[in-house]
Amino acid sequence: MSLYTPFLRRVAIPAGARLAGYGEVMPYLRGLEASQWWSPAQIQELQNQKLRRLIAHVYQHVPFYRQVMQERGLTPSDFRSTDDLVKLPIVDKYVLTSNYPDAIRDHSLPRSRLIHAASSGSTAERLHYWTTKTQKAKKWAGLFRWWEMVGWAFGQPYFTFQLAPNQGFKGWKLFGELEWRLLRHQWLSAQEMTDAILAHYVARLQQARPRLLRSYAATVYYLALRMNEQGLHAPIPAILTTGEMLTPDMRAAIEQAFAPGRVHNEYGGDGMQIACECGQHAGLHINAETLFVEIVREGRRVAPNELGEVVLTNLEATATPFIRYNIQDVAALDPAACACGRGLPRLSRLEGRLTDLFVTADGHWLTVHQFTAFFSKVLSVKAFQVIQRQVDDILIRLVVDESFSAADHQRILDTFRGYMGPENHFELAFVAEIPLTPTGKRRFFISEVIAGTGNTL
Ligand SMILES: [Zn+2]
Repeated sequence: MSLYTPFLRRVAIPAGARLAGYGEVMPYLRGLEASQWWSPAQIQELQNQKLRRLIAHVYQHVPFYRQVMQERGLTPSDFRSTDDLVKLPIVDKYVLTSNYPDAIRDHSLPRSRLIHAASSGSTAERLHYWTTKTQKAKKWAGLFRWWEMVGWAFGQPYFTFQLAPNQGFKGWKLFGELEWRLLRHQWLSAQEMTDAILAHYVARLQQARPRLLRSYAATVYYLALRMNEQGLHAPIPAILTTGEMLTPDMRAAIEQAFAPGRVHNEYGGDGMQIACECGQHAGLHINAETLFVEIVREGRRVAPNELGEVVLTNLEATATPFIRYNIQDVAALDPAACACGRGLPRLSRLEGRLTDLFVTADGHWLTVHQFTAFFSKVLSVKAFQVIQRQVDDILIRLVVDESFSAADHQRILDTFRGYMGPENHFELAFVAEIPLTPTGKRRFFISEVIAGTGNTL
């Protein structure tokens, strides 16, 4: 391994990236490996420098931002630090997509260098934006930094357990296979998860003994539950969960099956590597060299450790700038130093998608944790999904077994009335299975009421 890691880093990956037409990942990764140990003050200074450069650039080259700044009487000299960002409006995917393709793109870049990207997020509407090879390389560097943070190194075997395989050489079967072989990567498809397929996956994991397993939280949780039922173990030193909420119950089940104390939550979205948990498991470090994070409620920044919406500024992307972009997730910011020694600030709580929260009729925010904790105690309920159809109209879909009783029924209604107030209307619907979202995820919560508090334009 000692020679294989530098071979991959210095020879195979740079050559492969060139061949596949990607930007250079390794120089960015080496930068992030060093800067994560800088002091918070140094990292803030880096953010301020990058912000000044970004604002000067978008003022010059992005019609949308030139207009917004002119309307507000702003010039680039009004932006000295990230504190000055509040002078600009908060935008969301509707603003970006409605200004796609021309108004919100970098006109200093030739069209031939722009790559169209779309992400589905948690709702059916898609975000459309431009990216570049360089931007993609930086994204991969950000991702590899997290993998290294949880203990993996290039050359060590790893598994991904996802709907679609991740491959640099898309559509080039032979090169793709070579890439996986060199990187010692194996993919488990999350498309179909019958008991027989899962048993086969467990055998593969036990045999290959990967150093890292990366998966949607709900998928690996489901696999872990089946393994725990059968008393199966596959020791893996690091698990990275992505894509959706990781509740304490889910974490406990995954740890039991795979990795005691080594489950790390990773947070990304809309083409950005946002944050990841280090070995301290005390919040998620922000990819702060690239992203500046604000936590906002009703358009205003909130105090540290207070929950609010995640508003991101990508300090490097200009093809489509993401400046004060409300990604419609809910988290809290912890500026305190982490015991691991990294200077990167942390998200202290990550409550998931805005749509994974309910706002009750009296304005309280309920999170998915409360419901998963409750249903884990109702043994006859195998799966649940709560849908807020109106502020005061709640549909609870349940998959139950034959032991489900009238007492369980009453207990669920009583608990929901306790959480959300007796004035709400609750309906229980018994279903054979919880449907997947269009992106293949299983959602605990769907609020048809919250569509984000929107942009401040
Ligand atoms: Zn840390």
